[in-house]
Amino acid sequence: MNRLHAAPAFRPSIVALTLVCALTLCKDSSLAGRIELPIFDAHIHYNHDVRESVPPKEAIARLRKAGVMRALVSSSGDEGTQSLREEAPDLIIPELRPYRANGETGSWFRDDSVIEYLRGRLNRYRYVAIGEFHVSGTDADLPVVRALVQLAKRHGLMLHAHSDADAVERMFGQDSDARILWAHGGYEKPARIREMLLRYHSLWPELSSRDDMLSNGRLAEEWRAILLEFPDRFMIGTDTHRPERWDTIAANAASARDWLGELPAEVAERLAYQNGESLITAEFSQKRALRSP
Ligand SMILES: [Zn+2]
Repeated sequence: MNRLHAAPAFRPSIVALTLVCALTLCKDSSLAGRIELPIFDAHIHYNHDVRESVPPKEAIARLRKAGVMRALVSSSGDEGTQSLREEAPDLIIPELRPYRANGETGSWFRDDSVIEYLRGRLNRYRYVAIGEFHVSGTDADLPVVRALVQLAKRHGLMLHAHSDADAVERMFGQDSDARILWAHGGYEKPARIREMLLRYHSLWPELSSRDDMLSNGRLAEEWRAILLEFPDRFMIGTDTHRPERWDTIAANAASARDWLGELPAEVAERLAYQNGESLITAEFSQKRALRSP
């Protein structure tokens, strides 16, 4: 049996988390409140430059300690993703990044060898998405990007794009059935994100590094409005693109729980983990089932 098939089934870990909380961590009631809401972290990288200082066991421990129930992981050098997945198949959902090393964010879309690299990895491992990759504006129509979009389509994979709205529209132009996880909501303003969500129903923005969401420590009104209008479209992320970002996972989860606490509980739960679970975890579980003998 393939070792990936032997992985434990995905199960919500809220009960386990609450139990751990009750037994060990949460004598302080404010901490208890923060730990109770599990997080689906839709933007984790385990790049080659962090593996020595934060080995896989330690990386997994940090995610679990932060109350991350599931993490969508892509890495510059896919070995990083595979090593985390091996360590914690219940926690890690793999996606395939087109970068073999850091420093390719601005050059990959003119590098034909990227497609061969992706094909090789796709033949060897299973993923839920291709990404996170960076491309903006007219570059999204370059041949390498077109080939990547078609590769994702052929393999039934989502795209995880760090792209402005223009590039997202170009990729939907290449495949109207594409499903796009939109890193940082492209750093577009909420009004533009709203237009895109109304127009494209298979577009899900993720909210890492959106410093504009808070105003005086509270959710900015335009953000509150869009989160309430589209509660099933947004996800939380940390974006560990640099080694030191691995030190911020718990703080990021805690800060997300703070602003999520300003929203109705059912909306907060959708953003915190249910959207990731119903879209990404369910999709990956289905892929595993399809591939099982
Ligand atoms: Zn990233």
